[in-house]
Amino acid sequence: MVKESIKFVDLNAYHQEIKVELDEIWDTILRESSFIGGSNNAHVNKFEKDFAEYIGTDYCVSCANGTDAIEVALLALNIGVGDKVIVPAISWASTAEAVINIGATPVFVDVKYDDCLIDEQLIEAKIDEDVKAIIPVHLYGKPVDLDTIQKLCKTHNLFLIEDCAQAHGAEYNGQRIGTFGDIACFSFYPGKNLGAFGDAGAMTFKDENIADVARQICNHGQKGKHNHLRVGRNSRLDGLQAAVLSLKINRLDEHIDKRIQWAKEYNGLFENSENIKPPVLEEGLRHVFHLYVIRTENRNEMVEKLKANDIPFGIHYPNTLPSIEPFNATGSYPVADKLCQEILSLPMHPYLNSNQLNVIAQVLSEQ
Ligand SMILES: *Cc1c(COP(=O)(O)O)cnc(C)c1O
Repeated sequence: MVKESIKFVDLNAYHQEIKVELDEIWDTILRESSFIGGSNNAHVNKFEKDFAEYIGTDYCVSCANGTDAIEVALLALNIGVGDKVIVPAISWASTAEAVINIGATPVFVDVKYDDCLIDEQLIEAKIDEDVKAIIPVHLYGKPVDLDTIQKLCKTHNLFLIEDCAQAHGAEYNGQRIGTFGDIACFSFYPGKNLGAFGDAGAMTFKDENIADVARQICNHGQKGKHNHLRVGRNSRLDGLQAAVLSLKINRLDEHIDKRIQWAKEYNGLFENSENIKPPVLEEGLRHVFHLYVIRTENRNEMVEKLKANDIPFGIHYPNTLPSIEPFNATGSYPVADKLCQEILSLPMHPYLNSNQLNVIAQVLSEQ
């Protein structure tokens, strides 16, 4: 087999393809020299409209990054000191960090061995009168069990905040994620499935009034110019990022379909493997494979083989959130603990090819 350099993600391949359009954006932004959005930047307004349309919602508010999106979502729902918020034991740090940063306490729930997603069966036991919201994470790009979680929120009068940072375009029973929660939070960090040229984020909403509050919080508490209604912050998307995102969203679905194609091809290659458990593709879900994560009890061995062959990999994540020093939570999370020893992320991006997947599978199966 031809040896070629395999990338974990390949942003440059896409950017070369749209270089002419990107150059036009740079030129336009330079000429306009109007960089920061607020509510009167045409590029920001356009992207918010484009993204709302893509997700299938009426209200979208952009912000500086995905972590801010979660913090602002919590603040817009009036959650704060003395409140608790349910989060999964495995996620990127932001999910729990945002809860702590607004003065509330994260309550961790263990995850399912099959897919690392929050175990919806364990949520109810953690609900008490201080719990105000659940933040499920569509981790790796796979939608959580929204039916069950929506029912729990209804029964216990809780807000549902979707962490969609890894799942732009994912679908649950034919409906885009980001339309199920009171608020959904997105990140456009460059490596996400839809990525900007720096930090960027957004929220989508069911309710216009909550969207309005979130917009104020993101822009120093203002409604319009110099009309400060609350203590806010500076968390705005800039016009350059917005213009890049409006261009890149055009091919998001095509790129997701490629990711799914590679995921299926990987799964086929691992079908008869004794020590690799590939991710499961479920009926009724569009898993968008932000990450392709296998589980293996021989992870150290696999990692050594990948290193020896210059094949990049990742571990998302090596530690559970409750075990991380600054969160330092009580309780036991046996499934998450086990998974953090077994999960291994293999190269995943639209520009892979069958040859590369074969090389990776062969390297992993070598005795
Ligand atoms: C990336 C990510 C975030 C945070 O987004 P940033 O834009 O990096 O702040 C939040 N939650 C999850 C699950 C993420 O993967």
